[in-house]
Amino acid sequence: MQLSRSPSVRLPLTRSSRMTIFSDFDGTISNRDSLKSLLNRFAGSSWHWIERRLLNGTMPESDGLQKAFDLIDVSEDEALEFVLEHIQVDPWFKDFVGWTRNKGYDLRILSGGFNQFIYRLLKRERIFDIPIIANDFRTQDSQWLVKPPNIARLCPNCNHCKSASILNEISDSPEVFVVYIGDGHTDACPIQLADLVFAKGYLEAYCFEQNIPFVPFQNFKDIQEFLRNTIETSRDGSSFEIPPHGKMPKI
Ligand SMILES: [Mg+2]
Repeated sequence: MQLSRSPSVRLPLTRSSRMTIFSDFDGTISNRDSLKSLLNRFAGSSWHWIERRLLNGTMPESDGLQKAFDLIDVSEDEALEFVLEHIQVDPWFKDFVGWTRNKGYDLRILSGGFNQFIYRLLKRERIFDIPIIANDFRTQDSQWLVKPPNIARLCPNCNHCKSASILNEISDSPEVFVVYIGDGHTDACPIQLADLVFAKGYLEAYCFEQNIPFVPFQNFKDIQEFLRNTIETSRDGSSFEIPPHGKMPKI
């Protein structure tokens, strides 16, 4: 499967379609970005120079994330304590997970954050057994070593190439209906592989500017209701359109 632009405007979902839902974590499932919060607290002002270069595209994230964590001066235990204290999970996410399981939809978390933090934040909410594809870290003599997922990137921009992860996940069933949920810069590439995009924050503005059809959301209750009310009613063979600019279709 090649990267090709844009979610389908018309959704070819039938009763026999399989659906796989990919969701970003930081700022999407969580209320704020765990790595940025950690760096803002523990990396000092030099981090902001790296952040500016990441945002204006003059430094690839695959370089910038390690450079940023070279600046950090905190133990793994302190970092985890900070993350658990300051990062909250969307209160509707647990219901959403249960609903996807009841429906037989596959759900995967794709994150540029750290596996260890995501696992602990979800464990606190008693949310288990969701496949998480994310960066890892290990610490050695106070040095933080960032390790991307063990999958070949399609380009050097992102530390975790979410597009490569999606292609890998759906390689056995390329006809699967792909839903993508996200909020940030590193979500702009993988939405090209999605049939339906839910967007907020930067990603919402990006989709708007690029004329890419998307559905805006605030929380996972919005997403669950949209999928239940709209997608599922289209399974009788009819179809509907997601217009650009995030206007919700009338049901
Ligand atoms: Mg995010």
